[in-house]
Amino acid sequence: MRAMVLDRPGTPLREAAREVPVPGPGQVLLRVLACGVCRTDLHVVDGELPDLSRPVVPGHQIVGVVEAGGPGEGGFATGQRLGVPWLGWTCGACRFCLSGRENLCGEARFTGYHLDGGFAEYAVADARYCFPIPQGYSDLQAAPLLCAGLIGYRSLVMTGDAPRLGLYGFGAAAHIVAQLAVHQGRRVFAFTRPGDGEAQAFARSLGAEWAGASGEAPPEPLDAAILFAPAGELVPVALRAVEPGGTVVCAGIHMSDIPSFPYRLLWEERVVRSVANLTRRDGQEFLALATQAQLRTEVESFPLSEANEALSRLRTGHVRGAAVLAVG
Ligand SMILES: [Zn+2]
Ligand SMILES: [Zn+2]
Repeated sequence: MRAMVLDRPGTPLREAAREVPVPGPGQVLLRVLACGVCRTDLHVVDGELPDLSRPVVPGHQIVGVVEAGGPGEGGFATGQRLGVPWLGWTCGACRFCLSGRENLCGEARFTGYHLDGGFAEYAVADARYCFPIPQGYSDLQAAPLLCAGLIGYRSLVMTGDAPRLGLYGFGAAAHIVAQLAVHQGRRVFAFTRPGDGEAQAFARSLGAEWAGASGEAPPEPLDAAILFAPAGELVPVALRAVEPGGTVVCAGIHMSDIPSFPYRLLWEERVVRSVANLTRRDGQEFLALATQAQLRTEVESFPLSEANEALSRLRTGHVRGAAVLAVG
C-alpha cells in the first residue's frame, strides 16, 4: 500500500510502499477512503509533541470501510463505513478510565501519533474506539467531524450554556462549532487573523453575527470564548473579552507560551481551561448531534501524495474549512 510516513519530526512526510497491516486481536482493517488533516498532525510533524520515537503514519480523522476483523473483533460487518478518531486505545483500569475521563488516561495511545494513522491506503484500529459514520455525509465531508467536530464539541460543552460565544481562529473546528452553537440558539462572534476578510465572510455565512480580527474587542462582552488558534497571546485577549464568570477554553493540544497578564483579567471568577482529547461518549453524542443539527462541513481535498502540501497550507492558514486527503 501507499503511505505517507513521518520518519522524524521536522522533516516532510515521505511517500512509501508498505505492507498492508494485519489486524490484531480486537482490531479492524480499514480501507481508507478519506482522512482529515488536523492542526495536531502539524504539531506531530513539527515535533511540538513529546515522545515520538519511531516513524509514524499521521492522520486521525479516518473514514474507511471494514475489510477484515482480527481475532475477537465481532462488532462490525465487512463493508461497514467507520470513523477512527484521535483516541485509539486506553487502559480501561485507571481512575480516569473508570470515571468517564478516558481522555485523560496516562496510558492512552493516539491515532497518527503512537499508532499509525490514516495518511495511507489501509489502517488498523481497535474496533472499540471506532464510530459508525452517520449516513448523509460523503467520505470527505465526514472526515472533519472526527476531530475538528469532536474536539470542537467537547470545547463547546465546556462553555456551559454561554449565550454569547467567541471563537478565536476560524478554521476546521470553528466552522463546525459555529453551526452547532447557532443551532443551540447561541450568538457567535468570530475572530480571525487580522485582515482575513475571507475567513470573516465565511464565519458570517455560517451564522456568526459578528466577525473581526483577533485583536479587536467584540461589540459586546462575551460569556465564553474558545481558542482554536494555538497562540498563547490570545488567552489574555480573550479574558479581556469575557464577562465576570466567563470561561476561556483552550482547545488545542499545543499552544505557544501564554504571556503574563494582570490578575484583574482573571478576577471575578473568570476561568481559563484546556480541553484534552476526547472520550468515546463525546463521539457518540457529537455524531448524533451532527445529523440532528444538519451540520455541514466545507472541505478542501488533496490527493494522498499531496499530504505535505495540505499540511503547509494549513500552517499558513490557507485552508477554507477543513483539509482532507481523498485516499480511496
Ligand atoms: Zn486509563
Ligand atoms: Zn485533530
